Amino acid sequence: MNTIRIPETSQNHKSLLEQMQHYGQDDADWRGGRTWSLVYSLGEEHTQFLKEAHGMFFSENALNPLAFKSLKRFESEVVRMTASMLHGDENVVGTMTAGGTESCLLAVKTYRDRARAQRPWLRNPEMIVPESIHVAFEKGAHYFGVKPVRVPVDANYRVSADAVRKRVNRNTVLIVGSTPSYPFGVMDPIAELGAVAQQAGVPLHVDACLGGFMLPFVERLGHTVPPFDFRVPGVTSIAADVHKYGYSAKGASVVLYRNMDYLKHQFFVYTEWPGGIFISPALLGTRSGGPIAAAWAAMQALGVNGYTEQARIVMEATRKLTEGIAAIPGLKILGAPEMSVFAYASEDPALRMYVVGDLMEKKGWHVDRLQKPEALHAMVTPGHLDAADAFLGDLRAAVQEARANPNLAEQGNAAMYGIMAELPMRGMIKKNVLKIMEQMYGPDGVMPDFDTAVANADGDTGAPPPQDFAVKLAGLVVKLKRRFMKG
Ligand SMILES: *Cc1c(COP(=O)(O)O)cnc(C)c1O
Repeated sequence: MNTIRIPETSQNHKSLLEQMQHYGQDDADWRGGRTWSLVYSLGEEHTQFLKEAHGMFFSENALNPLAFKSLKRFESEVVRMTASMLHGDENVVGTMTAGGTESCLLAVKTYRDRARAQRPWLRNPEMIVPESIHVAFEKGAHYFGVKPVRVPVDANYRVSADAVRKRVNRNTVLIVGSTPSYPFGVMDPIAELGAVAQQAGVPLHVDACLGGFMLPFVERLGHTVPPFDFRVPGVTSIAADVHKYGYSAKGASVVLYRNMDYLKHQFFVYTEWPGGIFISPALLGTRSGGPIAAAWAAMQALGVNGYTEQARIVMEATRKLTEGIAAIPGLKILGAPEMSVFAYASEDPALRMYVVGDLMEKKGWHVDRLQKPEALHAMVTPGHLDAADAFLGDLRAAVQEARANPNLAEQGNAAMYGIMAELPMRGMIKKNVLKIMEQMYGPDGVMPDFDTAVANADGDTGAPPPQDFAVKLAGLVVKLKRRFMKG
C-alpha cells in the first residue's frame, strides 16, 4: 500500500515546480509535432498570451454569473461569435461547456427532456447515431437512459440519410451526425439528414466539436465544404470545441441551439434546496473563469483572418501528409476526408498497420490507432507542416521494416491491439478492462505496463511471473489468440 500523504511541512515553491517539470520529462513531445492528437498549439507566443488571459480570471467562478459579470460577458460573446460563424440568426442561443464531451452529453440530455415534455408517455427514448459518432454520445446514452440506434457507415465512412430514415420510429428523440467524425475525419451528409429530420419532425444535432472552428475557414479558402451549419434547415443544434481548432486553452466548447425552445430543456432548476434556489445552465457547478476568458481572448486575437491563415497552413500540411502516405506502396487514406483529420490503413494483408504503429512509436512518434478497421489516425495542426517530411520519411522506413519482419505482428503492442480488435468476446474484454481501471484508480494508482505485459505473456523474458492485472489480461488475450486464431 502506497503511503503518499500531504507533507507535514510546507514545501518550497521553486523546488516543487522543478520537481513537476521533471515529472513531465517523459510526456509525449507535442511541441516538436510528434503527437497526432490531444494538443492543438499555435506556438509559444500564442500559448503565453492564452496563459495570461487564463491567469487573469483563474480564481473567478462562473457558477454565479451575477457575481462575475466579466465571465458572463465572455461567455455570451463567445456564444454569439460562434453562432454567427456557423451562420446562426439572432435567435440562436447556447452555453459554453468544459469541453466536447460535456457538449455531447448535454445534447442527449436536452433532447431526451424535450421529448419527455412533449410526449410524457414516452418510456424508451432512442437516438439515431452513425457508428462513427464520437464515443461521448455512447456515454450520454448510458448516463441519460437513451437507447443508441447505431447506423453502419458506408464505403466512404459516412452514414446514409436513407439508412437513418429507416430507423426513425415513435421513440426517436434525436438524430446525430458529425462534421467531421473523429475516427475517419469525413462529414456525414448533414443536408440530407436535415431533410430526413424535418420530414420526421425529429431534431438533428451536428457534432462539429472537431470541425466547428475549422470548416468555416476551410470553406473560406475555397475548398468544397458541404453545408453543415445553421444554413441547413433541419439542423437544430451544433457543438464546436474552442479548445481544438479554436486554439484556446483546454476546457472550452460551445453548444448552440436554433432557439430557446430547445435550450430551455438543457437548464436545471431546483427550488427546495436548503442552500437556496439552484439554477444550472449546463452540467458542472463551479467552473474556473480561466478557460472562458481564454476562449474569448483566442477568438479576438486570431480573428477571421488569423483562423483562415491557420486553416491554410493546416490544409497544406494535410495535403502533404495524405499525398505522401498514399504514395507509399501498400498504404491508403480511408475515404475522402474534407479537412485535416484522417485515418490511414494498409491495402496489403501482409502489411499490418499496428506493426507500422509500433515502429513509428520506436522512432518517437506518438501515433493513434483505430480498431475498426485496423488503421492509424492523425489530427493535423499547424506545427505538423514542419514535421511532415520527417514523418513521411520515418513512415516509409517503418513500412519497409514491417514488411521485412512479418513476425513483428506477434509482438509488442501490435499483438495486443490486433487481438483486441479481432477477439470475438467483447464482453470479456470489457470486464477485464474495467478491472484494469479499478487498479489504475485504486489506492495505488498503478499505470498498467502493456509492453512488459505482452513480453511476459509471450514468455520471452526472464521476468518474474506477472503480478498486476494488466499483465494478466495481456497474458490471457495472447493465450486466447493462440487458441482461437491459430487452432
Ligand atoms: C474531441 C471530440 C469530442 C469530445 O470532445 P472532448 O473535448 O475531448 O471532450 C466530441 N466529438 C468529436 C467529433 C470530437 O472530435
